[in-house]
Amino acid sequence: MSETETQKVIIIGSGPAGHTAAVYAARAELSPLLFEGFMAGGVAAGGQLTTTTEVENFPGLPEPIGGPDLMIKMREQSVRYGTTIKTETVARVDLSTRPFTVTADSGEYKTETVIIATGATAKRLGIKGEEEYWQKGISACAVCDGGLPVFRDKPLVVIGGGDTACEEASYLSKFGSSVSMLVRRNVLRASQAMQNRVQKNEKIHILWETEALEAVGEQFLTGIRVIDKKAKEERIIEASGLFYAVGHKPNTDFLADQLDADKEGYLITEPNSTKTAIPGVFACGDVRDKVYRQAVTAAGMGCMAALEAERFLADQE
Ligand code: FAD
Ligand code: NAP
Repeated sequence: MSETETQKVIIIGSGPAGHTAAVYAARAELSPLLFEGFMAGGVAAGGQLTTTTEVENFPGLPEPIGGPDLMIKMREQSVRYGTTIKTETVARVDLSTRPFTVTADSGEYKTETVIIATGATAKRLGIKGEEEYWQKGISACAVCDGGLPVFRDKPLVVIGGGDTACEEASYLSKFGSSVSMLVRRNVLRASQAMQNRVQKNEKIHILWETEALEAVGEQFLTGIRVIDKKAKEERIIEASGLFYAVGHKPNTDFLADQLDADKEGYLITEPNSTKTAIPGVFACGDVRDKVYRQAVTAAGMGCMAALEAERFLADQE
């Protein structure tokens, strides 16, 4: 493959959406080129599932599978059917002229269609002390960092009330002496199954209507100044570890506003389709989905994007 040859399909992103698009495009003999990223948006190639332990809800796998293992299998499947993978982050794209141009470290690539599958990245809160104690007690990935000796038998805190927060609190309860969940409302957003898991766990305590104001400590984090919004009281709770689980930001900076997005930055596509407003450019997975955000839905949209790219190319001929 040369940089100068025009590709039929370039896929940007390497989560379930990108790899499913790759398998379908490769089997349709479109010889896809996939940029898997190099710690793009702070996530390893393979996407968000590389930051989790066991995946229990991906169909066809009756036994739980490790998130990283599932993504290795998806990558192998993409390669097996003829996808070329580059371990590079796409810096920018030019969607104003055809063929489109995709720029990464190794140069510029021309392509007739682009499938954007760049997913989303964990958000930070920007509280006082966050920069100072980032990776000195504060993390956005319990699964990556929670087992470190510094957190063993220590009080830990998770912020958030979604599935990630519940999953991380459950995981951290294996290591910490206790886990407090700071939940800003009086309800959890998480699925009922996750809520049950957390509520049954004696090591996990939910602090309702409570928000973090400041991370405090010396060389390492020792506590968090919080506000109980109902009682209108501030206090410091002891914490050796603080884990953010407050949602995600779609990875679209490299697009430089060339595609329509909603106010939170999620790409907008036609209803029941992955087509963007630019013919030949498709968006799939968490970068365009703030509702379902699951591996299987991302994979489903990756399939749709590849089929739509294939039809677009056929119509051009
Ligand atoms: P992602 O998985 O986000 O992958 C996108 C990839 O694109 C990333 O590797 C990123 O680095 C790369 N990328 C970004 N920008 C660029 C660029 N400019 N150039 C090249 N590459 C780029 N879902 C389930 O169904 N079951 C679960 O058990 C489950 N557990 C989860 C646990 C956690 C902790 C989290 C955070 C999520 C979990 N989810 C789970 C949700 C699931 O991980 C996501 O819905 C799914 O991974 C989205 O897939 P995606 O392909 O859209 O994007
Ligand atoms: P999410 O569902 O968006 O939840 C984010 C949580 O953080 C919400 O409780 C939100 O509160 C809270 N929050 C946001 N900003 C905050 C702030 N500034 N201060 C305090 N709290 C704040 O995100 P997620 O939990 O990462 O889940 C993302 C997707 O992945 C979901 O679709 C989820 O189902 C999926 N997922 C699935 C699994 C699984 O199936 N095993 C595991 C993990 C994730 P509010 O509720 O008040 O908005």
